[in-house]
Amino acid sequence: MRTRAELREALADAPRPVGLVPTMGWLHEGHRALIQRAHDENATTVVSIFVNPRQFGDPADLEKYPRSEARDIEICTEEGVDLVFAPSVEEIYPPGFDTTVKVGRLAEVLEGAARPGHFDGVATVVAILFDLVGAEHAYFGQKDAQQLLVIRRMALDLALPTEVIAHPTVREPDGLAMSSRNVHLTPEERAAAPVIDRALRAARSRHAAGERSAEALRSEMRRVLGEEPLARPEYVSVADMTTLQELETVTGPALLSMAVRFGSTRLIDNEPIE
Ligand code: AMP
Repeated sequence: MRTRAELREALADAPRPVGLVPTMGWLHEGHRALIQRAHDENATTVVSIFVNPRQFGDPADLEKYPRSEARDIEICTEEGVDLVFAPSVEEIYPPGFDTTVKVGRLAEVLEGAARPGHFDGVATVVAILFDLVGAEHAYFGQKDAQQLLVIRRMALDLALPTEVIAHPTVREPDGLAMSSRNVHLTPEERAAAPVIDRALRAARSRHAAGERSAEALRSEMRRVLGEEPLARPEYVSVADMTTLQELETVTGPALLSMAVRFGSTRLIDNEPIE
């Protein structure tokens, strides 16, 4: 489907429940896991493919974001997806478009601080997609943990009827979280990138062994990242799982997360701890 009207018409008599998987395309095994889950839990599965300009701060980053619609549609077909919504930018943002959905504090820290306006773009497009599809369920990856929390907050605050469902991060055998951006890594950077997962796991083990100082956990992550010369950490965080505020002491559910650059590629990853 290319247009809002086509999508609404196609969904008018679709068997319920409907499951939506919003993506920016260049589908990989992480997306596939979300799609399979949606397929298992719903009578109709909808995948959206839209590289959303409003969530990119840097025009060069938007420009180089990988795209392959034909291959994406092949994967959707393999997975039994009923409807693919792949609209143009003008279809999502018609001329004169002038509305922003802005989530507050949760969207201001971490990725929100590093990429100003990013979550405004995410929340705005997801609100449009939720309204257009009217799904019972929408599936998001734990890989983008803050995005998940921001969308949950938005759905709750705006009383959107779509239930937001989280799915665990899918990783390569060496621990690197699957991401469309991995395609930009040089072979040397690709070989170095699993240091992210090692750093997260090192901090998680320290926590499991009883370490409760958030700074000690951050230091442990920085120490492991420091072993890899190609890794340039942007931030390393130990935050409260509900508010995403940085912690001093870990007393409840927390999120270990980081953004790390390898050359021109910026990767994010996280690990929830109980
Ligand atoms: P994207 O196309 O990168 O915007 O991602 C679309 C959806 O797939 C988002 O909900 C992501 O969190 C999710 N996703 C991306 N990578 C992974 C992964 N490695 N494991 C699980 N979900 C993922």
